[in-house]
This record gives sequence, C-alpha cells and structure tokens, in this order.
Amino acid sequence: MMLHTAVEEDVKALVEGLNFKQKVDRSLALIEQAYAEYGDALVVANSLGKDSVAVWHLAKRVSPDMRGFIVTTRFKPPETKQFMREQVSRYPELKIYDSDAEIPDRLYETDPDRCCDILKVEPIRRAIEEMQVKCWVTGLRCTEGRTRVDFKEVEQRDEGLLKLNPILLWYEREVWQYLALNNVDVNPLYAEGYRSLGCAPCTKITTGANERAGRWIGTSKCGGECGIHTRPLKLVGGAGI
Ligand code: SF4
Repeated sequence: MMLHTAVEEDVKALVEGLNFKQKVDRSLALIEQAYAEYGDALVVANSLGKDSVAVWHLAKRVSPDMRGFIVTTRFKPPETKQFMREQVSRYPELKIYDSDAEIPDRLYETDPDRCCDILKVEPIRRAIEEMQVKCWVTGLRCTEGRTRVDFKEVEQRDEGLLKLNPILLWYEREVWQYLALNNVDVNPLYAEGYRSLGCAPCTKITTGANERAGRWIGTSKCGGECGIHTRPLKLVGGAGI
C-alpha cells in the first residue's frame, strides 16, 4: 500500500526537491488514501496553529465529513480561545478536549513535561479512545525545529494507531502560501509576531531561524515538544500517563 511506501522515501530530498504544488498534491493524496482505508476512524488533530488549519483545510477538501479534535488547556491565550470558539461554531464536527485536573501552581515552570502530560497528553489519549481513532492526522513538519527532523509521513508509534503527517515536507513559507491562496482564517496572534503558538506562559515572540525557538524558553524543553508527538497515546490495560 502506498501509504506505507512513503515511509521509505528520502524525506530531506523530497523537502528540497518538490515544488509547492507537488507538495499540496502529495498531501491531498496521502489524506485521500488514508481516508479510503480508515473512513470515520481517521480524525484530524487540530491545535489551531497555522499548520493545523492548513491540514484541516486539506482534509475538508478530501471529505466534508472529516472529523477532528482540539486539545486545549487553561493556559491558552484568550486570542486562541476566541479563535477556537469561532472554528468550533463553523465546524461543529471539531470536538474539544481538555483537563480540569488539579495541578501545583506554576507547574509549567517547575516541571513542564509533567504539566504537558497532564494538560495535553492525557486529553489527547482520551480523544483517541472516545472518538475510536485508528489514524490521526497532524500538522507536524520536519523543517520546524530541532526535535522534528526524524519524523515520517506515516508513523506507527502505538499498536493500532497510525499517525499521518501529510504536510511533513512543507516549509513554513509554503504553509503561509497555502493559507493565503485559500483565504484560510488564522489565529490573530500570528499578526503579533508569534511563529509557533502554545500556552501563554510557555510561548514567546522570537526572531531568528528556529521557528519553535519561542517555545518553553529557559527550560529543558526549549524549542522542543509537548509530548503528543513523542509519548505513547494508546492506553494499554488502563495504564495512565
Ligand atoms: S505548554 Fe506550558 S502551560 Fe501548556 S501544558 Fe505544557 S507546560 Fe503546561
């Protein structure tokens, strides 16, 4: 099946060798094939960032029935929460997941990995279970930062759960190109200078080459990941985080 052969290809050569249109066509083809195979068990993870809204737009071109979920936290900026409300009222098939677990004050400073585990990874596990997801679609890109260079378009980190990264090969510039050409609404925080969006205490405006440099500044996670792309997401025998 072609979905799996993509794993074998040279990702770096494709990033540099394909033009914008070829990348868009490839992304659509990946989603189409996965949707043909998984149907309703294919679900888009929408973080409300620019990459996610591009993937959501692509997925909706493949099928208007496409479902999605948003994982939000109590620390998301008000602009992101407002953007989320707008997106959900436009697309009621986007389901919101969050956690109201009690956590120590300023856990994002003392132990950001644990904070992300509780506030992001646990709700995403719940989303995958409740929505009966067998293939989840993300906006991950391999040119995005230091931790994202070895991801593949199709990954299987958990038994019974495929991860599809249909815009893995896109440059940041190509995401903006796609959004502009298709008049896709974006989070207004981008107009303030943010390049990568997350929770308010852990996201800063930065300059320089690294797109994710503004995430978790001053912690061991600086420029890194919240864990949803690196931690197991299927609950095995009821095991927690
Ligand atoms: S991004 Fe920061 S505030 Fe948000 S869950 Fe992670 S550590 Fe906590």
